[in-house]
Formats: sequence, C-alpha cells, structure tokens
Amino acid sequence: MNTYYENLKTHIDKYSALNMALTLFNWDSSTEAPKDATELTSKYIGILSENLYNTLINDDVEGLIEKLKAADDLTVEEKAIVRKTSEMFDDIRYIPADEFSAYQALLAKSDAIWAKAKAENDYNSFAPVLKEIIDYNKKFASYKAKARGYEGPLYDILLDDYEKGFTTQVLDEFFSRLKATIVPLVKRAVKNNHLIDKDFNYLSYDVEKQAEISRKLAEHIGFDFNRGVIKTSVHPFTTNLHNKDVRITTAYKKNNLESAMFSTIHEGGHALYEMHVSDDFTGTPASYISMGMHESQSRLFENNLGRSEAFWKPLYPKLKEAYPEQLKDVTLEHFIHAINKSVPNLIRTEADELTYCLHIMVRYEIEKMIFSGEEIDIYKLPEIWNDKYEEYLGIRPESDAQGILQDIHWAIGSIGYFPSYAIGTAIAAQIYAHLQKVMPLDEYLSSGNLQPVNDYLKKNLHKYAGSKTTKELLEGLMGEDFNPEYYINYLKEKYTKLYNL
Ligand code: ZN
Repeated sequence: MNTYYENLKTHIDKYSALNMALTLFNWDSSTEAPKDATELTSKYIGILSENLYNTLINDDVEGLIEKLKAADDLTVEEKAIVRKTSEMFDDIRYIPADEFSAYQALLAKSDAIWAKAKAENDYNSFAPVLKEIIDYNKKFASYKAKARGYEGPLYDILLDDYEKGFTTQVLDEFFSRLKATIVPLVKRAVKNNHLIDKDFNYLSYDVEKQAEISRKLAEHIGFDFNRGVIKTSVHPFTTNLHNKDVRITTAYKKNNLESAMFSTIHEGGHALYEMHVSDDFTGTPASYISMGMHESQSRLFENNLGRSEAFWKPLYPKLKEAYPEQLKDVTLEHFIHAINKSVPNLIRTEADELTYCLHIMVRYEIEKMIFSGEEIDIYKLPEIWNDKYEEYLGIRPESDAQGILQDIHWAIGSIGYFPSYAIGTAIAAQIYAHLQKVMPLDEYLSSGNLQPVNDYLKKNLHKYAGSKTTKELLEGLMGEDFNPEYYINYLKEKYTKLYNL
C-alpha cells in the first residue's frame, strides 16, 4: 500500500471516529437523552466539533492529498476515497477560520430562535437571523466560486453541496415541466377528491400494535435488525455510524394509521442504502451519499413500491387481522386508493405523492430569488411564500407558522438543500421504471419477496455509496442520466387512473 495513503487513512480514521461520536450524540439527543442534558452536552459537542475540523483542515492532510493526487499506484477504491477527502477539504478551507466559527456560533442559537418564532407565529423575530444566515451563505459561496473559477449563478454553489451537477439550469427546466404538467393535474384531481374515502385512516389505532407493524414492515423491505435499530422521535429520521450500525426513528400517531407505516418504510429505504454500502468505503468520506440519491431510495420504497397494490397484496390481510374492527369494510382496493389520495395541504412533511414536489418548487423559487443578486426585503418573504402556495397548490397559509416558518432547514443553514428532495423523488420514479424493465417486479412484490430487489440495488447502486457521482451512478445502473420525464409520466398515469380523469 502507498505509504502516503496509509498516512492519510490514519487521519481519515481519526476524523471518522470523532464524526461517529458526534453522530451518536445527535442520535441520543433526539431519542434518549434527558431534557436537561442539552446545555452541558452542547459544550462537549462544541469541543468535539472543533477537533473534527482540525483533524481534516491541517497542512499534513493538505500535503498528503497533493501527493496522492499524483500517485499512480492506488486502487480504484483508494482513488475515490482520496478524491472525496480532497473535495471535503476544499469545501471548508476557502472559508476563513474566524468567519467559519462565527457562523457556527450563529447556527448554534438560530434554531432555538426559529423554534420560538414558529411557536409564537412571529416571523419578524426570526427575520434578522435569517438575513444573517443568508449573508454568510452568500459570502461563503462567493469564496468557493472564486476558488473554483466558477462564474455561473451563486446559488449553483449552494446546490452543489447537496447534489452535484444539478444547477439552476437543470432545475429550472425540471420545475418548469412540473409547473406545466403537475399543477393542472392537481387542480383536476382535487375536484374528484370526494370519490376517495379515507375516513378509516383516522380512527383509533393502538400505538403498541403500530410499533409491531412498523417493525414487520421494516423487516419485510429488508431492514436487518442485526445492523440496525428503530426508535421513536418527534420527526422521523435516519442516522448511520457505518454499514453495520444504521438507525432509524419513526413517530406513532394514535389517530393516523398510515403515518408511522410510511415513515418507517421511508426511513427504512434510507437505511437499506447505508447497510448496503461496501466495506471498502464505509467509515471514509467515499461513503457519504449525496442528498438527492439518498432520497431517491427512501422515496422509491415509500411511494413507488410502498404505495403500490402489488406491495400490499401479501401484507394487507395481516393488517386487517391486526385491526379487524377499523378495517372491517375496507377492501384492498379501497385501502390502495386511500393511501394514494391527494389533498393539497400547507405542510411539506405531510404532503402526498402528487403535490410533494410543488412544496419544493416554492422553496426553490424563493431561494433562487434570494441569491439572484438583487437586494431583497427579508420582511416581504412571507407574502411571497403565501402567494406561491395559492398559485401552485390552491391554498393560502393563514399563519407564518404554517407557512414560511414550517421547516427548520434555513434556520440551520441548509440553503440549497430542498431541491435534493425533488431530485430524489424524480430519480425514484426513473429507477422504478427501470426495475420494472429488468425484473418481474410486481410478481416479486405480490409474493412478498423483496430480496431480488434489494440484491439488485445493492449490487448495481448501493454498494458504491459516494465513490461515484450521481451521473455515473445513474448511467451505471440504467444506461441513462437523470431524466424527469419518467417522474412526470408516472404521476400522470397513476393519478389519471386513480381519479378517473
Ligand atoms: Zn428522506
């Protein structure tokens, strides 16, 4: 083995050890930690974070990366790890250390300010902090643009952090197609909403039983309990330490049957991806999967597979057995209609499959506007937000808590993140179409056998993790780069049939 590589690997291992400790702290504070732990624990998290930064950003690592970029005796896997480490290094090093820590200090308090503003429906108390976060992001993006010699829109730099290659040019085209096709489809579907009854979903469902069902669903899709755990948290999420320790959470609601089931399948999809990452990459920067690709797998399992009739064929009789009273008069067909019903609402995380990406479009257009170079009035954003909801979804928020304050992302500095949800959703539909081509997918689903699906995805996609770009991954899997046409056709076909349009 190349000795420079061996040296770099020692730094990477140290970085990963600290990173895993931080990840575990995060997991713990969302699931198990007592309420009063926050303040003191934050102090130690701060110390660990500083160490994490220093293990990567130092002259030693910089020198090793330079030497290794010129090395010709590295394996394909080692090359990928060097490239990803170098990208991470570049992402941080152009930002002056004092500005970086001032920004971190701002973020350390901004989510609490946002949470209070949301609880009190008081956007104006959050606006100045949001302005500061935006200004830092503009500044950091311009440093990176300069270092890369990039002269395109500044917003591209932010988008790049979450999904490389998906610039404003690509996204403009994507969203303008959605606007032309999905917005009118939603309006037509809404008119036929009375045809689909979903009342049974909101009866009372024993939470203990729900937990049992979630566990079985996770197992059914291939979640390996020797490598993963399921706990509960307010907002479901996935976290992973390495490919043998992947954790998901779900949230049970007594008066909503589908909520926990589909959260579990969604997070389970994320988890499968992580569990299938190759041993060569786990614990290194090459294991970091882009946000859009990650979301493509959670959405594939949650929606394309998880809301299909074939998927529920072997499962629905068991669900009925668990809730004989509540589901007494609900046939499989009725159930499938209900779990696919589209009702435009104000909250992104509760959106159905048809309207979901319209929520993202609102945020994309606002972010793009903010970074367009024009001076914007931060206090006007709620109105712009509400207008867009009215235009695309036909509903207008009555409060900012239900509108612009609903998501935490901007408060934690995640700007340019939202589009990756839409990209992932569209990629999921493309992969779904591909799976139908290469295997008898419905047959597998109907017989309750998801092993061939998992094996195929692991072998042709999951194992590579972040060692390849999204373009390389998609072309390797399907012989075709990102193509939103599959997604648009999928929605059109599905909802035209569902709503008799
Ligand atoms: Zn997700």
